[in-house]
Amino acid sequence: MRKLLRVNLSTGEIREEEIPAKIALEYVGGRGFGAKYLYDEVAPGIDPLGPENKLLLGTGPLAGTSAQSLSKWLVTTKSPLTGTYTRSLGGGDFGAWLKWVGFELVIIEGRAAKPVYLYIKDSKYEIRDASAIWGKSTSQAQAYLKKEYGAKARMVCVGTAAEKLVRYAPIFSGHRAAGRGGTGTVMASKNLKAVVIEADRSENMADPDEFRKLVRQQVKGYKESLGFETFRDYGTPMGVDFPGFGLGSFPVLNFRTAVLEGWEKLSFTQYAAITQKHTGCYSCMLKCGKVRKVPNGPYAGATSEGPHFETIWAFSGPTGCTDLGATVVADHLCYELGLDTISTGNSIGFAYELFEKGILTTKDTDGLVLDYGDPEPMLKLVEKIGNREGLGDILAEGVKRASEQIGKGAEEYAMHVKGQEMPGYEPRALKALGMNYALSNVGANHCYGYAQQELGNPRPRLLDPAADEDKGDVVRYNQDYTAALELVHACTFPGNNLECFGLELVAKMLVAALGEPAFGSEDYLWHVAEKVYNLERCFNIREGFTRKDDTLPKRMYTEPLKGGVRDGEVIRKPDTIIDEYYDARGWDRNGIPARATLAKFGIEKVDKDVAGFRR
Ligand code: SF4
Repeated sequence: MRKLLRVNLSTGEIREEEIPAKIALEYVGGRGFGAKYLYDEVAPGIDPLGPENKLLLGTGPLAGTSAQSLSKWLVTTKSPLTGTYTRSLGGGDFGAWLKWVGFELVIIEGRAAKPVYLYIKDSKYEIRDASAIWGKSTSQAQAYLKKEYGAKARMVCVGTAAEKLVRYAPIFSGHRAAGRGGTGTVMASKNLKAVVIEADRSENMADPDEFRKLVRQQVKGYKESLGFETFRDYGTPMGVDFPGFGLGSFPVLNFRTAVLEGWEKLSFTQYAAITQKHTGCYSCMLKCGKVRKVPNGPYAGATSEGPHFETIWAFSGPTGCTDLGATVVADHLCYELGLDTISTGNSIGFAYELFEKGILTTKDTDGLVLDYGDPEPMLKLVEKIGNREGLGDILAEGVKRASEQIGKGAEEYAMHVKGQEMPGYEPRALKALGMNYALSNVGANHCYGYAQQELGNPRPRLLDPAADEDKGDVVRYNQDYTAALELVHACTFPGNNLECFGLELVAKMLVAALGEPAFGSEDYLWHVAEKVYNLERCFNIREGFTRKDDTLPKRMYTEPLKGGVRDGEVIRKPDTIIDEYYDARGWDRNGIPARATLAKFGIEKVDKDVAGFRR
């Protein structure tokens, strides 16, 4: 029996529910369960920060086992940043603990009257007073809970930025975040500071011998995989050198140029030189996390468990800063305050450009002079955003809302899709990846359909990064492949980028673990993934999102990229790629799934919600 825990913070009622066998079969688990329950239970038009929104904390069907990189946890909710469906995958240990305590999903409803946290142990569930940790940083809150509950406990929590309703606050497990879309903001809006689980390791396999054999095969695959050792040793900062500056895809000065003088100071080799320790998520031999300490310079002594590639970009490219120490400080500040580094760095880059254009002056910035290359105002703005002070209060709304509030043409400089800030890959340099931002259900997000084909991966076929068409079907392929891996919450790095394992192995593991023969077919997982993707799309359509929202910032179409390997590139034929993509998906020209498409996946019931948007 697969179970969920339903927690109503308004009434205090908590109950266990069986996940119906039909849902378990038709949605497999993980992201599938999240999308299904969110669609069915969150009505269109509700305020994402109101009690009607629900927060779904899920773990994968293979979490907590010896399988590698399959113990992540996932948050599904309606995003306060975009107003769309969102899902965000987090690392650390929490996914394993949630599985061991017996639930694949915790559905959190309503809003507590005062700050609380949820405690789960065996069949004991309690909503407990959080006054001792409300107002505390992520590290302080977690330290308190660890002291309170000991070594057998693991937790997720939010920082003070979430309490202040910064729209892009994540949920954290240790230093690992479900980073994007404001999942932590939704949690804090419910007056929920943390979820704590006490559990013992447990594994309940349909065929334990077969499962062990498959794990051995997976471990062998890791060791033989091209890139395994370098990724383990250096982690995600390798992206600075390639594709970053090697392919001209590192966005600089708020997505205007691909040139950053002195970028070599941010090379992965520089980060490797200051790495003190390797850390990883539960049952992952890649250990891509790195604890770093700045040895000299103005930030000497600063430490952080990071930064990862995206954070290095967020606190260098947007502001033109090349101080490695400042990226470590910014990473640590974001962790302590509880901020999404991508949205924070992008928002600050937006402010720097407005300052350059004279749209913002020192009167708006509390005297801060936002000069490119100077990390000090950048670090001050991180704190201002986290504390919602001065300009930080406006930037805490995300660049879309901030630009509307600031006016004076600021919208031109807001680099977002559907309200979510763009990450550190330049759409004009990697066009399939860029169009994935435009078409994604969660706003700009590189992890929602990363296009490896532009970086040399021939599956399903190689793509010329600069080509202006014949990419739509591959954008779909990447999104569905990611969705299939996320049915089991597989980490994107080994599963998608390094190809340490694939769906064939996942399918076999699912059968060995759950004993359900239908899960043993790779085709079945593709089918479910595509169904889930369509359901997520229908959630958004029901909220009024259609083709008009599948777009990139105007700059991507009208301003040629300056410098780098892709110098002079613009996205010339977005509509061609969008039409190719809609055709590949079986959607109409307004981006609405055809009735026959919904019927193919057995979800024709949702047709009534979306039919009115067809054209
Ligand atoms: S590769 Fe990194 S992020 Fe992925 S599961 Fe392993 S340690 Fe976690």
